[in-house]
Amino acid sequence: MNIFILLGAPGAGKGTVAAIVSPSLGARHVSTGAMLREAVKSGTAAGLSAKAYMDAGELVPDSVLVAMIEELMVASPSDATFVLDGFPRTVPQAEALDALAVRHGANVVRAICLDVPDALIMDRLGGRRVCPACGMGFHIANIPPKREGVCDACDTALILRADDQPETIRNRLIVYAKQTAPLIDFYTRQGKLMNVDASGTVEDNVPRVLAVMR
Ligand code: AMP
Repeated sequence: MNIFILLGAPGAGKGTVAAIVSPSLGARHVSTGAMLREAVKSGTAAGLSAKAYMDAGELVPDSVLVAMIEELMVASPSDATFVLDGFPRTVPQAEALDALAVRHGANVVRAICLDVPDALIMDRLGGRRVCPACGMGFHIANIPPKREGVCDACDTALILRADDQPETIRNRLIVYAKQTAPLIDFYTRQGKLMNVDASGTVEDNVPRVLAVMR
């Protein structure tokens, strides 16, 4: 199993980039945020306990996430490749991932940090819209749907995620600086960090990310 990690602030474009680069690498895009939103929607025990953290822009406890990732590894073939989008998000999660990798014969190949200036992050998150039915993501200016306010894939009315409200965005950025940014040092020390300028358009950013993955 090979694992690529996408790091970067909320709104840096991890989900958009991962959704495009994963198929071209024959990899599986794993978004822990999407998995948690799905668990909330289907009302599982993990979902019910995660909802309050997510709505407040706080991190869900490490133990929930580490169990989700272990379940995924156990259920996957040994030659699988993963692009992790949103995990790890704390140093204890990164340490747990290293331990899981040893236990399940996986290799954390690289951590790619998408660098985007703060002002652009606020703009990207505020303009983000998502389909509540199929999960497809849009942006009112950068990735507009073909018909305003409606999902291209399934015709459902698009929504602003609860955690993309301005107050929650501010909290998510604080949480990122405090709990997730230390991972940049963590992977630098392991010699696995690559920084990519992700301030451009999707068309600009995807080839830059692919270049450091191959
Ligand atoms: P995302 O879609 O990656 O922005 O994640 C949305 C929300 O899900 C985050 O704000 C957290 O509340 C939760 N979440 C996703 N991934 C993790 C993680 N690795 N650790 C803790 N909470 C997470």
